[in-house]
Amino acid sequence: MSALSKPVEEHVPDVSHALEYLSASRLSCWQQCRRKHYFRYIARIPSGSTSALHLGKVVHAVLQRFNHWRWSKEKHQFEELRLVLDEAWDRELQEKPVDWKDDKTALDTREKAWALIDAYVSSGLINEDDSIAGIEVRLDAELEGLPPLMGILDLVHGDRRIVDYKTAAKSPSGGCAELVHSTQLGVYAILYRHCTGEKECGLELHHLVKTKVPKVHVTRMEPVSDEDITNTIELMHRHVEAVKSGDYTCSPSFMCAGCEYLAECKAWRGAAA
Ligand code: SF4
Repeated sequence: MSALSKPVEEHVPDVSHALEYLSASRLSCWQQCRRKHYFRYIARIPSGSTSALHLGKVVHAVLQRFNHWRWSKEKHQFEELRLVLDEAWDRELQEKPVDWKDDKTALDTREKAWALIDAYVSSGLINEDDSIAGIEVRLDAELEGLPPLMGILDLVHGDRRIVDYKTAAKSPSGGCAELVHSTQLGVYAILYRHCTGEKECGLELHHLVKTKVPKVHVTRMEPVSDEDITNTIELMHRHVEAVKSGDYTCSPSFMCAGCEYLAECKAWRGAAA
C-alpha cells in the first residue's frame, strides 16, 4: 500500500459496511474525494449537521408533505406548511444538532427555509393536476458483480418523470447541472428501469436557490442515454475496486473549507505532504 493510500489506523480498515450497498450519495462522495468517502463510510466517523444540510433536510421534509397532500387531493392551507416546517426543524435538530454561530443565524436559516418553500410553491411551476406515482420512493436493484444498489427518489410522476429537489447557494450554471449530477441521474434511471421494467420519460432537477430573494430553477432532461447507463455501471465497478484496494487519495479543493472531516484530514499521517 502506498503512502498516499495508507490510512491513519495501523490495522487494515473494514470495508464491509461501505460495500454493504451502493447509492448515489456514496458514489458521489467517492467521486468528490476518496478520503472523505473513507472518513464517512469506512472509518464511519460521526459528523454533526451543518446549517446548509439542516436546511436541505427540512425543505425536503416540507415538500414531501406537500406532495402527499397533492397526491391524496387532501385540502390544505398554505400556512399549514409552516407547521410542517417547524416540526421538521425540531425533529431534525434532535437527530443531528447544528452548531449554530448564534441564535440569530438559526432564526435566519429557519426563515430562509420558509422563504424557499414559499418561492417554490408560488412559482407556478407545479401543476396541481400532474399525477403522482410515488413520493420518497425507495428502489433497490441487484446488478451482476456489484453490491446491491439502493436509492430514494424524491418524486415520481405518473408519466414516468423523476424529480429530485436540491437546495443550493446559487443557480446551476448553464448546462452544468446534468453533468454535475450525472452519477445520481444514472443511478436513479438504473433503479427505475430495474424496478418498473420501463424507461423513465425524463428527469428534472428542481433547484431551490438560497439567494437573498429565493429563486427556483428547473432543469429538464431527456431519459438517461444507454451510454451513460453503461458508464454509471462501470463507475460502480471502479468504486468497488478502489474501496477494496484501499485507495484513499485526497482531492483538495475549495470544497475542503466546508468538509466535515477537515480536522481529520489535516491530521492524516499517511498522505503525501
Ligand atoms: S478536507 Fe478536502 S481533501 Fe480532506 S477529506 Fe475533506 S474534501 Fe477531502
